[in-house]
Amino acid sequence: MKRLLVAVCLCLATACGQKSPPVSQVQAVDPSGDYLIGTGIYDITGPAAEIVMMGFAVGEQKTSGIHTRLRSRAYIVGDAHKRVVFVSADLGMMFQMVKLKVAEKIAQNPELSPYYNEKNILLSATHTHGGPGGYSGYFLYDFTINGFIKRHFETIVNGIYTSILNAHNNLEPGKILVNEGTLDGVGGNRAVDAYNNNPLEERSQYASNTDKTFTLLKFVTSRGEEIGMVNWFAVHTDSIGPDNHLITADNKGWASYLFEKDQGTNYFAAKTFVGAFAQSNAGDVTPNIGFGQAPPDLTLSGNKSLGNAVLKQYQKARELYDSATEEVKGSIDYRHEWVDMRKLPVESAQTTTCAAGMGASFSAGSPYDNPSPAPLFPNGTTVDSLVWSENAGKTALSKILGGFFALIWTDTSDPNYKKCHAEKPVLIPTGIAHVHINGPTMTPQIMPLQIIKIGSVALIAVPAEVTTMSGRRFRKAVVKELAPLGVRYGVISSLANSYASYLATREEYAKQWYEGAATLFGPHEQAAFQQEFVKLSRAIVQNTEIPSGPRPEDITGKSVDLTAKVVLDDKPLNKSYGSVITQPAASYKPGETVSVQFWGAHPNNNYRTQDTFLIVEKLVNDVYIPVRYDYDPDTTYRWERSGVANSKVTITWHTEGAEPGTYRIRHQGDHKSGWTGMIAPYEGVSDSFVLQ
Ligand SMILES: [Zn+2]
Repeated sequence: MKRLLVAVCLCLATACGQKSPPVSQVQAVDPSGDYLIGTGIYDITGPAAEIVMMGFAVGEQKTSGIHTRLRSRAYIVGDAHKRVVFVSADLGMMFQMVKLKVAEKIAQNPELSPYYNEKNILLSATHTHGGPGGYSGYFLYDFTINGFIKRHFETIVNGIYTSILNAHNNLEPGKILVNEGTLDGVGGNRAVDAYNNNPLEERSQYASNTDKTFTLLKFVTSRGEEIGMVNWFAVHTDSIGPDNHLITADNKGWASYLFEKDQGTNYFAAKTFVGAFAQSNAGDVTPNIGFGQAPPDLTLSGNKSLGNAVLKQYQKARELYDSATEEVKGSIDYRHEWVDMRKLPVESAQTTTCAAGMGASFSAGSPYDNPSPAPLFPNGTTVDSLVWSENAGKTALSKILGGFFALIWTDTSDPNYKKCHAEKPVLIPTGIAHVHINGPTMTPQIMPLQIIKIGSVALIAVPAEVTTMSGRRFRKAVVKELAPLGVRYGVISSLANSYASYLATREEYAKQWYEGAATLFGPHEQAAFQQEFVKLSRAIVQNTEIPSGPRPEDITGKSVDLTAKVVLDDKPLNKSYGSVITQPAASYKPGETVSVQFWGAHPNNNYRTQDTFLIVEKLVNDVYIPVRYDYDPDTTYRWERSGVANSKVTITWHTEGAEPGTYRIRHQGDHKSGWTGMIAPYEGVSDSFVLQ
């Protein structure tokens, strides 16, 4: 790879226009010490009908429309030697098949492959509980969804890939500013019993039982253009409850939307401002304490938890962004390894990790977010607990997973496996049970661990939902190692690169609350990960390489999809697709909700990526211009089946804050012919109405 000296574009934005020289192909050698920076965003919204949603694990919570679209937000930073990519995607989880396939697509593009690979891309999820599932490939994370949905998976892979490609094409010299603060009043600890089992001496170092650190990066080009913001804050993205059926990016996605709206983001553009609210050590942190169980309400005023989490995260980001002055300085670096978690020696514990297993109290759920209505085993069920017996476990499982599970249950009779997991009674032996012969285990066993260094900031990529104290331990250890290189900020990027459910400390694990029961690789998983993060950090300091480790197999071809498919669409006789069933009222008062119903078709015929199912149009100088799309959180697009194959589509617009005027509502979709199987677009438009 040849390195070129390039003249940095120092001309004014007006002289350069939007077309600054494409420096993306060359290494930046900038006398001012700037980095090469770029941001990109792309649509990853999946099937908007009849697919079980990911997060609450409620089988009845199936998609039936869109509240907001889901996006992948990508950031690239490079110096003269290395580049790194950070992605925050509006997904419940980031699964490792997604990472493998994104890396594969990058490898196939000769423009990208010299710079990016699985080692320097960090893909993370916001943990929204409002997205469709079925994109893991591993049985445990797909089974409530009825399997793996290839088209959904590919939409996510392609969307993340395209966001990275956009960021690459937008690269130009610039600087990054860092600002850190604390955010109070958002998030409470939902596993206090477990948290309080951490040593008193350790707990007394912190003012709170949740991590309130709010870390923000601001991206500004050498031309002075603000191109991006990303922040990390620890709170679950589940302010909208399991009775909601519309795809939504929930509190973090809505905060992004508000921030991006301020900055004039155009979601249809390949180059635009990108503002991510990324996830941190929120394993035991819920936004819902003090507000009750999350309701399906999709308004900031009606849903108190949502209003609180959206507005406070947004305002904190705004405050830190506007007051950021500290420039990030120093080298760009990274280390990545695949680790086989079935038997990783953990030096500090003088033992090993264990093949994955899900504990009994996992089935109870978390009391504040997804409690099981009739838990078979309450939070805190340990092997010593009287309630636990293996027979009870078997019965519970056949209820949860169905009869075939008996076939694989025998695997847990291995005494060493059981002993390894104590205090956890294993309910589902996800690491040793195979759903079908030659198939993969129910959850992945080989985990990606990664440290990314952007000057004074270290990103610690953890492939799990990290509890508050686990995250603090990682951060402390990594910042200490990297301090000689000037690292002062440690950021926990959780739900990153893969997903191994939760990650609790050794002490929290002993309590076997929901998070501890879902800490898959046994009591010493936190110590094991920490040992590896320290190793990766040392390699950065000492400038040595780390072996890649055992690469996990590609299981995307071995997964089953039992989800319902669209056979055909139909409509009543004498009606056309897009014809209006219920027109809007003639006029509305400000703040009222407009509602229009159309004859439509199934949304899964075409996800309409980077497009929309609805447009609110405003009459301006005798011409209707679009003012709202399906991604705007004050609109909803709702699909329902009518009869055998008819679809009714209801579009609403909550007009609070909208300007007075004359409007109408357009719906567009795609229908599938039962004769030819062909999919064709249609559209319809409502009568006009006046907003007073
Ligand atoms: Zn969670």
